Amino acid sequence: MSLSVAVKAKNSTLISLIRFFSVSSAASSSSSTVSLSPSGRLQQTLSGCVEVKGKSLHSGKLSTVKLLPEIAGAGRCFEFRSRSIPASIEFSQESPLCTTLFKDGLQIRTVEHLLSALEAKGVDNCRIQIESESADDREVEVPILDGSAKEWVDAIEEIGINVARNHVGESVEKMVTHLNKPVHVCKNDSFVAAFPSIETRITCGIDFPQVPAIGCQWFSWRPVRESCFEKDIAPSRTFCVYEEVERMREAGLIKGGSLENAIVCSAERGWMNPPLRFDDEPCRHKILDLIGDLSLVAREGNGGLPVAHIVAFKASHALHNDLARLLIIG
Ligand SMILES: [Zn+2]
Repeated sequence: MSLSVAVKAKNSTLISLIRFFSVSSAASSSSSTVSLSPSGRLQQTLSGCVEVKGKSLHSGKLSTVKLLPEIAGAGRCFEFRSRSIPASIEFSQESPLCTTLFKDGLQIRTVEHLLSALEAKGVDNCRIQIESESADDREVEVPILDGSAKEWVDAIEEIGINVARNHVGESVEKMVTHLNKPVHVCKNDSFVAAFPSIETRITCGIDFPQVPAIGCQWFSWRPVRESCFEKDIAPSRTFCVYEEVERMREAGLIKGGSLENAIVCSAERGWMNPPLRFDDEPCRHKILDLIGDLSLVAREGNGGLPVAHIVAFKASHALHNDLARLLIIG
């Protein structure tokens, strides 16, 4: 199926195609859906520590994130109020407009852009200390920064990446997840499907017929070079529809939202804060989000974004998370 056909197809046709090609569903998934195999590279971590402070998108509060090196096999883990919350799909909870980790009554919101940068840059093991502006807060949000993953990538590049060693000082080969059979999840006219492939590729589509400046966009990306993510994906910012912003504010969301941390598009007036960094910046941002959400499949420094062709259309964080649950090694 060529992309041009997919773009022209009606939503219902796309869903039918996915169902036709996808012989497996959420209900029939088993551990043979995925397998781990050696990647040919060693598990990595950061070479040093870096601290980033900024405003939260939803609460509007300030929070501080400190990224620290971690031993091989430890994976990526948040620390909040002296408690450990692994960046794992087991602790992910559905929440509006972002991905939230929840454990022992503590919540860490909007983890996806930071995790996307760590996953794409190959930081397999990392301790992520996070603090809210009030010491007694039971929830905290990763700073939204400019709405993209650019500043996280800059921070990672500034401190550098090193081979991680385990508790006895040995390096460990990184294992990657391979998809053995197609899987998909869908809700109404949205879907995320993953197909076996010899390489990782992500194809995302969005459709906003009521907002002509966004309209229908598709973007297909594969990490052919190490610098691809920082060039093609990381700079793409969160986007929102101007006419929906007030409704979100009334629902107590995006209190920290501004023209500095999102690109805003009006149905009638077009983009409110140009220029865009890419013509298809909203669609590229969906790929950024998807990488962050699928990074939650990683365990003990292995896995993460699978070797598969992932195709998403009008997908949400909730749907990304549903797909991630199908990709867990049994
Ligand atoms: Zn996002």
